[in-house]
Amino acid sequence: MASFTLQGIPVSRGIAIGRAHLLRPAALDVEHYLVAQEQVEAEVLRLQAAIAQVHKELQSIWADLPQDAPTELGAFIDVHVLILSDPMVSEAPLDIIRSRHYNAEWALVTQVDELSAQFDEIEDEYLRERKADIQQVAERILKVLTGSANSVPRSDGIDERSANMIVVARDISPADMMQFRDVAFAGFVTDEGGQNSHTAIVSRSLGIPAVVGMGNASHLIEQDDWLIIDSDAGVVIVAPTSLVLEQYRERQVLLQKQRKKLGKLKKTPAITQDGVEVTLLANIELPEDAAHALDAGASGVGLFRSEFLFMERSGQEHKLPSEEEQFEAYRAAVLGMKGRPVTIRTLDVGADKPLDTTEHNILNPALGLRAIRYCLTEPQLFLTQLRAILRASAFGPVKILIPMMAHSFEIDQTLNLIAQAKKELQAESKEFDANVPVGAMIEIPAAALALPMFVKKLDFLSIGTNDLIQYTLAIDRADHEVAHLYDDLHPAILQLLHTIVTTAEKAEIPVSICGGMAGDVRLTRLLTGMGFRELSMPAALLPEIKQAILNTHLENVQPYVKKILRSYEPVVIRETLAAMEMLGQTVH
Ligand code: PEP
Ligand code: MG
Repeated sequence: MASFTLQGIPVSRGIAIGRAHLLRPAALDVEHYLVAQEQVEAEVLRLQAAIAQVHKELQSIWADLPQDAPTELGAFIDVHVLILSDPMVSEAPLDIIRSRHYNAEWALVTQVDELSAQFDEIEDEYLRERKADIQQVAERILKVLTGSANSVPRSDGIDERSANMIVVARDISPADMMQFRDVAFAGFVTDEGGQNSHTAIVSRSLGIPAVVGMGNASHLIEQDDWLIIDSDAGVVIVAPTSLVLEQYRERQVLLQKQRKKLGKLKKTPAITQDGVEVTLLANIELPEDAAHALDAGASGVGLFRSEFLFMERSGQEHKLPSEEEQFEAYRAAVLGMKGRPVTIRTLDVGADKPLDTTEHNILNPALGLRAIRYCLTEPQLFLTQLRAILRASAFGPVKILIPMMAHSFEIDQTLNLIAQAKKELQAESKEFDANVPVGAMIEIPAAALALPMFVKKLDFLSIGTNDLIQYTLAIDRADHEVAHLYDDLHPAILQLLHTIVTTAEKAEIPVSICGGMAGDVRLTRLLTGMGFRELSMPAALLPEIKQAILNTHLENVQPYVKKILRSYEPVVIRETLAAMEMLGQTVH
């Protein structure tokens, strides 16, 4: 096969080398994990048993058909029995388990997807529609499988196979992405998505090379193709020659060495060469990420995206996490951070992070009932979360961060609900920190421009640059077709950031950045030069940002920062940024 290269949007750093592992849409609806070699035959037996069980079910349906049942009904059952006995359904998934180590559900869905694709090509309409029968049979098997208690234990995720697999999909929702956390895939490639779509954010926090917005990659790449992801350049090389493969392997080793070296900075405080300290915090999605945050040397959690506790709950009894479940999760993060502050952002659902329980707004999700807007229409749900967060504050320093604030009444209503939650807890003699700081995310241009509205009522601010860019430049951050317009160096963005930092400074209210710009090493000198003293980012990026700060002399970068802020010429902005980058590069 001839080698070819595909271009996409880089969303994380590093190089991945591995075999393509295609995920078709239906495959995302079932659990997927890899079974260890010694458990493969048990998994095969599990699928065989499920198929046998469905055989029995169909036979008993047949036997129980009433005398007067229409004859087509019997014929339909016959068709299903035939399908079930066909080796394409009863044998091929077993081979997939054996060759690829997929769990039974995943193997079945993979095979059914492949069959469905073949059926789509059939000219004859009647035959084409038999696809639905295959899917119905598969659903029956899946039902038996997911109800079976004796499933094989998952692999521990460090299986060599998975470590060398690169997932290729049309799209992976943030919730689906969470499923991959336990499996050590080498990388991700998706057709859809933008630099700061939530899928990209999760892959970044997993520290895995990924390229999104590839357009048509999932059609051009075939199962088991060799791939190289160069996520710095945003390219995927399909079927590389052995020479290219060798070069990339060398680069990969070099990168690993550099990363190891950066790891030594863990305990070094992030102080510029002229003595200004910058607080580096971590963004987390789940409580267990606290360990990675500590490991990277974070001074705390600047953004805990709590909505991930509310997503991907299909296997759970309740569609929404209870107060107790949330409390446990928040407390785990607080305890995990060992006395360092944890900023818990209240539920930010909507747009590309729908809840299972809400209807997706097909009109314009990014502008719809998202984040605080949603929470204020569901006060009971919001109160439950606020109570859980407050209770966790009894175990260590906690801050409450409210997303998508734009209106004064949203602040008032939120503060009232927090007061109510405190009152309830007090009445129940439950402990909490009465002085929990409350802050707002500044991620809508209106909020940035009307900052004085926030400074008197709140304790701190945190800039969500991902949304600030999305809403200022009017581009959906998840839409790859407009991804080329997503520009964090657009003069409008820089002016807004400048306005925020200077207004906040005057008002003496702390302001941090927790959006993607905070973790972009190209921007560290610019942001610190502008006056930002708190940056929150995925833990994996923290050491590199720290090194950039250690290499920065703030006084020296000032003239460059001023020039950038005075300029409305993108070329000048970029050139000045590049020149600032070259200033006094010393190696630590
Ligand atoms: C942001 O918008 O920059 C942000 C940090 O929040 P999220 O990416 O979760 O929308
Ligand atoms: Mg946001």
